[in-house]
Amino acid sequence: MFLFIAGMRTMSDNSLTPPKSIRARSSQRSIIRELLKLASQPDVISFAGGLPSPKSFPVKAIEKATDWVLETQGTRALQYSSTEGEPALRKAIAAHEAELGAPVDPDCIQIVSGSQQALDLMALAYIDEGSKVAVEDPTYLGALSAFKLQRPEFVTLPTDEHGLNPDLIGPEFSGIRFAYVMPTFQNPTGITITEERRKKLAEKAREYDFWILEDNPYGELWYDRQPPKPIRCYAPERTLTMGTFSKVLSPGFRLGYIIGPKPALDPLTTIKQAVDLHTSTFTQLISARCLDEGLMKTHMPDVRALYRTQCHCMLDALERYFPEGTTWTKPDGGMFIWVTLPEYINTDDMMKEALDRKVAYVPSSAFYANEPKFNQMRLSFVTVPPEKIDQGVKVLADLIKEKMAA
Ligand code: PMP
Repeated sequence: MFLFIAGMRTMSDNSLTPPKSIRARSSQRSIIRELLKLASQPDVISFAGGLPSPKSFPVKAIEKATDWVLETQGTRALQYSSTEGEPALRKAIAAHEAELGAPVDPDCIQIVSGSQQALDLMALAYIDEGSKVAVEDPTYLGALSAFKLQRPEFVTLPTDEHGLNPDLIGPEFSGIRFAYVMPTFQNPTGITITEERRKKLAEKAREYDFWILEDNPYGELWYDRQPPKPIRCYAPERTLTMGTFSKVLSPGFRLGYIIGPKPALDPLTTIKQAVDLHTSTFTQLISARCLDEGLMKTHMPDVRALYRTQCHCMLDALERYFPEGTTWTKPDGGMFIWVTLPEYINTDDMMKEALDRKVAYVPSSAFYANEPKFNQMRLSFVTVPPEKIDQGVKVLADLIKEKMAA
């Protein structure tokens, strides 16, 4: 009997799986992610999340658009549809891009299930084991995770306090498959690169014959002035630009898109067909209706005003509490501030202490492809109410001051 019980395995026993693939074996859960689960406890002031503010969700407009879709094209909305995406949505996106000064043919738009899927499709279509992929330093950790499944070799793009610096891109970048960049309100730094640098990057891509993968989830979240045009305007023949509805309508919709030359989209479409056939017809049609009804004009000013207020509240608190020897970015849009501490402070190690004091952030090491830096942190300011932002920043400041005094 004892032997039977000792040898018995339960459904939750991790060893009870089919033989794992090389990819599954090599993709590990990060310790940081495990620790960050604690950040979602209700008594924690979390600057760690990448979630948009629920206050930014246009619930009423989505309800109205949903009713309209069900009444006018209910059976179409509930049916399978094409892998490329619903023509109504592709047309609506093209019209919006034209308004932004970056016109595109609807045929050059591939709808995807969130831009995270775009990253995955890019990796499947355009990375082989050992392929060189250039990323910013730091970069979006979700992109690193998606690309890593294909086991590329990462090379890092030169950056300075103004973000990516294309002037320093030289012949060592010829032979890379693509450069993955977030030119506008970058995740994690919040930095936006200038029009000049965008043009320069386009020139360098031509000179050294690489493609640009431009990720633009935050472009609509500007506070006072519209950011420069996307890089694809300067190198349309070799840029794939990813957009998403996650920060303007709803991340729960899982809806994004890729814009690029049709031949470069074709392999992505073929792979997407194998992966998930197509993105939800229903949410595509609801989103198309929202765009056609002018939601970007009526709704986004409120979201921008909300995020601008939240950002200034955090910048004020950082100014008030953070000690000399610390610096931070001052974004013109987006959701994140990037803080740099003295080099001897390790934000991985400090996280446990911050969590004990009920404040969370994301430590910098997670955002580096090759050589991690440990003395920085990403603070998101969009979901925490202003009085809590002040309280949480003070807790972090006190902790840092203790470390500096030690
Ligand atoms: N790219 C960047 C830079 C992000 O920050 C995120 C997540 N916020 C994504 C892609 C994925 O976004 P989604 O899949 O929700 O479109």
